Amino acid sequence: MKIICIGRNYSEHAKEMGSAAPTEPIFFMKPDTALIPKRTPFYYPDFTKDLHHEIELVVRINKLGKNIAEKFAHEYYDEIGLGIDFTARDLQLKCKEKGLPWEIAKSFEHSAPVSEEFIPKSVLTLHNIPFKLTNNQEIVQTGNSADMIFTIDQLIAYVSRFMTLKIGDLLFTGTPAGVGPVKIGDHLEGFMNDKKILDLKVK
Ligand code: MG
Repeated sequence: MKIICIGRNYSEHAKEMGSAAPTEPIFFMKPDTALIPKRTPFYYPDFTKDLHHEIELVVRINKLGKNIAEKFAHEYYDEIGLGIDFTARDLQLKCKEKGLPWEIAKSFEHSAPVSEEFIPKSVLTLHNIPFKLTNNQEIVQTGNSADMIFTIDQLIAYVSRFMTLKIGDLLFTGTPAGVGPVKIGDHLEGFMNDKKILDLKVK
């Protein structure tokens, strides 16, 4: 499986990164080794001094497809979870300055923890999914799918122009504003519709 991550899909986040809102989706990838196996702790990586959290809605693809039309995209997923697109911001800034790829900053081991539980689409209002991330019980990021620049269906249509989507692929749909650093000892909890589905301690 593969993990596809959308960049700058919320204008407030694009602003906080000093970037313009995109006119076309931006995506990059993480390998399957970015997932964290069950009961495996997350360790703060030794190659960064500025690890950031980015809470994101994550769509699990449940049907094989290429060149999916936007109007049929809804047939390619039926549940949504939460994930953290961990980013080594210091490395990412260096890569950006030099125009280099982002992999060392974005695609490292365990950089994409995903909630064990995914919520069926049938109980969600897709264009109004509130979600948030707390760190040590304090809210650090809040978002709502209503504020996405590109909808889930538009993202699926776009990405599938370039590559086949397979069953089990995960689509990280972009982070809202409020990204910030984590440190060893932090306790991150992700909520969708006020239901906690993600729990991660930084060791
Ligand atoms: Mg992200």
